Amino acid sequence: MSDLDQLAKIAEQRSRGWPDFHPEAFCHRCGRPNLWSWYVDDTEWQVAVSDTARILCPQCFVALWKEMTGFEGTWELRLDPLTDQRNGDTDE
Ligand SMILES: [Zn+2]
Repeated sequence: MSDLDQLAKIAEQRSRGWPDFHPEAFCHRCGRPNLWSWYVDDTEWQVAVSDTARILCPQCFVALWKEMTGFEGTWELRLDPLTDQRNGDTDE
């Protein structure tokens, strides 16, 4: 499925209330699969994205952020504290 086809599928799913997949499963800008979990603080999000409910993949967020700030960004990988079981910690 091309990115344009995927964007059409996302629009169709949105209009029908997301019956076939979760709205965050795909980027609403490029149509590619989105990561399960990623985070950027609200301040940086608002610099790049005026619509706080918009669903973006990390690559699209970085492109918009760079466009608005003129700076290069970088990523830092962190363990998700809710799913990290290496220390025997779970929230269940
Ligand atoms: Zn994207």
